[in-house]
Amino acid sequence: MLLSAKGLSKSFGGIRAVNNAYLEVPRGSITGLIGPNGAGKTTLFNLLSNFIRPDKGEVFLDGQPIHQLPPYQIALKGCVRTFQVARVLSRLTVLENMLLASPGQTGENFLKVWFQGAKIRQQEQENRAKALQILDSIGLGEKAQDYAGALSGGQRKLLEIGRALMTEPKLILLDEPAAGVNPTLIAQISDHIIEWNRQGITFLIIEHNMDVIMSLCHHVWVLAEGTNLADGIPSEIQKNERVLKAYLGD
Ligand code: ATP
Repeated sequence: MLLSAKGLSKSFGGIRAVNNAYLEVPRGSITGLIGPNGAGKTTLFNLLSNFIRPDKGEVFLDGQPIHQLPPYQIALKGCVRTFQVARVLSRLTVLENMLLASPGQTGENFLKVWFQGAKIRQQEQENRAKALQILDSIGLGEKAQDYAGALSGGQRKLLEIGRALMTEPKLILLDEPAAGVNPTLIAQISDHIIEWNRQGITFLIIEHNMDVIMSLCHHVWVLAEGTNLADGIPSEIQKNERVLKAYLGD
């Protein structure tokens, strides 16, 4: 397993948002996480990436515990995430947004700015070339010099994924990549996910759009009221009576 979690719980006041949840994401898979509104999916993502500290439970990446690590260290270990509402820096250009995501930039160190100018310039050129290549691959190449704030909702989601790719991740956690995105762009995002997965990146995806889940995912986990309801291959989950009941109500 590339990512596994067990016994995860988180309450907000009296609300048990996630209650003793577990999950496994096999290396090389596209894994789905679904559930009705308020099931605790985003909270579970926040716990996996430690944006919120769990009350209880453990998370392992590549067999190593990560639940004590701050989010930036989890990202450096190869697990990055996107948000339900894409978080871009609106008043920076699309290219600048991408460049900010490059880890380990020598120019971030004050002393090295003075003594390693050539190395910094070379690294910046490499990062720029890599960013432009990724932007081209996600159809945002022509927007590189536009403000990120001028992008559509769907394009911002692509930019967020592009920024994640700059870190050369093993695992990307995608929170509703298709929400608020037009059908043409949804198809493009899905194609990209399949291609990046072929190149070796593992995905865990929260999504309400069942067509996207059913067409992309190798395995699907279902949460309801903060706890595990079912997991299995998409065609099984689609027919699972408990899952249907959770979505449709009693
Ligand atoms: P959706 O599909 O609608 O995005 P979800 O499955 O992602 O829902 P969560 O957003 O994780 O569900 O929310 C689970 C429960 O926890 C909900 O009842 C929600 O109101 C509550 N909740 C989530 N975050 C907080 C918070 N920061 N403070 C208080 N309650 C919260």
